[in-house]
Amino acid sequence: MSTPSLIVVLLASVLLAEPVRADIVISQNGKARCFIVQQSDATKPEIHAAQELATTLDQITGGRFEIQTNGANTAKHAIIVGPGSTAAKLFPEIDLTKFGPEEFVMRVKDGNLLLAGGCPRGTLYAVNHFLQEQCGVRWWTPVATNIPHHSTLRVGNLDMHEKPAFEYRAPYWSAGFDPLWKMHNGANDENNLIPAEFGGSVTYQGFCHTFYPLVPPDKYFAAHPEWYSLVNGKRTHEGAQLCLSNPELRDFMVQRVRESLREAPEAAIISITQNDCDGHCECPNCKAIDDAEGGPSGSMLAFVNYVAEKIEPEFPNVWVDTFAYQYTRKPPKILKPRRNVIVRLCSIECNFREPLDHPSNAAFLADLTRWSQICPHLYVWDYTTDFANYINPYPDWFTLGPNVRVLRKYGVKGVFEEGAYGGPGADMAELRAWLLAQLLWNPQQDDHALINEFLEGYYGKAGKPIRQYLDLVYEKAKGFYLPCGLGEPPPYLNFQTLAAAERLWQQAEKAVAKEPELLERVRLSHLSVRHAWLYNWESLRGECRKQNAVWPLPESRKAVADEWRTVAAGIPSEDWTKVGTLNEGGVTVDAFLANFATDPTEPKHAPAQ
Ligand SMILES: [Zn+2]
Repeated sequence: MSTPSLIVVLLASVLLAEPVRADIVISQNGKARCFIVQQSDATKPEIHAAQELATTLDQITGGRFEIQTNGANTAKHAIIVGPGSTAAKLFPEIDLTKFGPEEFVMRVKDGNLLLAGGCPRGTLYAVNHFLQEQCGVRWWTPVATNIPHHSTLRVGNLDMHEKPAFEYRAPYWSAGFDPLWKMHNGANDENNLIPAEFGGSVTYQGFCHTFYPLVPPDKYFAAHPEWYSLVNGKRTHEGAQLCLSNPELRDFMVQRVRESLREAPEAAIISITQNDCDGHCECPNCKAIDDAEGGPSGSMLAFVNYVAEKIEPEFPNVWVDTFAYQYTRKPPKILKPRRNVIVRLCSIECNFREPLDHPSNAAFLADLTRWSQICPHLYVWDYTTDFANYINPYPDWFTLGPNVRVLRKYGVKGVFEEGAYGGPGADMAELRAWLLAQLLWNPQQDDHALINEFLEGYYGKAGKPIRQYLDLVYEKAKGFYLPCGLGEPPPYLNFQTLAAAERLWQQAEKAVAKEPELLERVRLSHLSVRHAWLYNWESLRGECRKQNAVWPLPESRKAVADEWRTVAAGIPSEDWTKVGTLNEGGVTVDAFLANFATDPTEPKHAPAQ
């Protein structure tokens, strides 16, 4: 079932045929020792790749890297960026015209380095991976980039041929919404579109819950009630869906999809997806299909297959996307998705404390298994936050890696990792965005090593206590079924856990007290644990009294709330520091803190300490 997620090929036969495979000296003692060749017919993304390579190498080495556009006579000491005549002349063994849109090669031969790939994004990714893997550059967040300094830079016998594990990669967290950050970290979804000159995105026309945008009930229900669900014997559009077996509606949908695609020539995928509720149609014709197929995914797929077949002649390169979500999650018994259909299977019911192949997620895994058998183009919509409470500690940190590996193992081709998209401040948001981007590129990477790398790179000396905090809460959540719509703080966030967590965050703040930028990052991330304190303050005070324990933060709830407000307000002009909404429902910082304007009265007979 699984195929290698990365092509990392040593071109052995070619290797034998090549007499010399020298290293390349990029810079020595702060002086550039090679130049960059931009091909004469370079595309805009390839031009950007060459320019960014030059600028970043300048910063890394302190040298000055020249870009030559007439490099046909190049013989040695050049970095060839992108496909074209120079690449073909110096690396004739590599046929870049056959490369996929995101596939690339990094190769040193005869004192030259080739960084090139397919169109539109391959060459950009070649340069990004060169800077990341060979030079140590990291794009942690849109405003936190690590560019190391090496006055002397030499590259050894580099020979990498690579492409991403998934064709569609969406780490959907506000911390990663910046188009350039996405391009650097290999995300390619269209939410916050990556401009064409930076390689562009995989573009949907309509993204989710598109039934009513395509067939609006306010326009059509009065004249065509039979196009909408029959629920409890009555046609309705409220909390309902479409009557998918209605032949007239099917042809109307075909027409709407054609119109919609004509307006969006750049769209790679059109979404025909159910509303965000149940209310599927129970009419005899829909029911007959669903009964035969073992559930409502039957009438859904029959409908989507029909539309996909009808639009294919005019739009042969467009995928028609639908959901396997909630009432349609279970795959049909007989029907199979047509060749131009994408099914997006949604994991919304799962236990996110454990991987998707854990026994507690057996029902989902059974559906994933079956869909993977019948759907050659399976995508997954996965969930990586508590949508009812973005801020509270949400210990799925160590399931993100295993989950992406499970999806890869089952042949999933695209992954939408839905996270907190309401602005900064969500639990470990920056870590998750970066980690998910790395994993969606290559799920076989060691996720624990990636997490440590991020924590140390982004939080500096505070990284170690923060890692201990992640371990602590994750361990305490063992055995708890962690949904993605929890809201209330879970029982494991009791006094004992929070006191230990609080001390670790205080250590973290202390560790970077003299580094204002790092301290700001730590303080923002500390808000998660402080949120949990405020939320359950009185019961936590009670636990503390009962255990005769030391209260690890200020005694006044109002003081803690005021500090929370100050940190959440952030630094003017630094948007990443200002906390956004606290959940998917749009709870604001003010609304949350309004509950803590005064201190509660406490029992006098039992002091907290
Ligand atoms: Zn029906």
